[in-house]
Amino acid sequence: MFFGGGQRKDTGRGKNMDIELPVTLEDLYNGNEKLATVKRRIVCRNCKGKAHLPRCAECGACPKEKKMVHRRAGPGMVVQQEVMVESKEKCKREDKRLTATIEKGMPDAEEIVFKYESEQKPGQIPGDVVLKLKTTPHPMFTRSRDSLSMKIAIPLRAALLGFETSFKHLDGHTVTLKRTTVTKPGQVIRIKGEGMPKHGTPSEFGDLTITFSVDFPTTVEAALAQGLEKLLPTFSASDLRILSS
Ligand SMILES: [Zn+2]
Ligand SMILES: [Zn+2]
Repeated sequence: MFFGGGQRKDTGRGKNMDIELPVTLEDLYNGNEKLATVKRRIVCRNCKGKAHLPRCAECGACPKEKKMVHRRAGPGMVVQQEVMVESKEKCKREDKRLTATIEKGMPDAEEIVFKYESEQKPGQIPGDVVLKLKTTPHPMFTRSRDSLSMKIAIPLRAALLGFETSFKHLDGHTVTLKRTTVTKPGQVIRIKGEGMPKHGTPSEFGDLTITFSVDFPTTVEAALAQGLEKLLPTFSASDLRILSS
């Protein structure tokens, strides 16, 4: 991944470089190491007297520096004034590789700080590079803190008679789901311990909630209708109820 020219925040010293670091839910579940390369200006420590060497081929002027000067402002009066002066140092741009450790269960928007790794400028303490985690959407799971949620569509027959299914979790382990009772459309079940690992105590996990939808057949053919009429309980007008809103 390659970054450069992120947003900068003003602090007392050099400015911080704030960079968004995309991470997957798998990264946050399992933990991972992410490499981020930042483009930054550094003050060259090798230029003095050796600027002709190849490693200094791209060294150039540093940004101007602030300097306090005393200036005569009239007879017997001296004022102190801040002026910008050319720097005596040489600067160059470099690609700095930073390795961010994504810990299990880290929350979205967590900031991983690399102290003093931002742009350098002579006479100034550099700011930090701040990598802010940004979770990319997952096709299957939605995260809310330590909880995960997902949606499963099941056929009508499975909704009425029960079913067994399985899916792969974020670390590849198989979660088996077995239901022997009726599952209603919109019904939510909770599976303990199949959510996200808790940041700081990754041996503990949140829960997974599953919301079911039921795929009804779009048509019922005559033969099927006949069979269903025999199978399903009859109903009367009073079974069709208008519900209060
Ligand atoms: Zn140099
Ligand atoms: Zn599991």
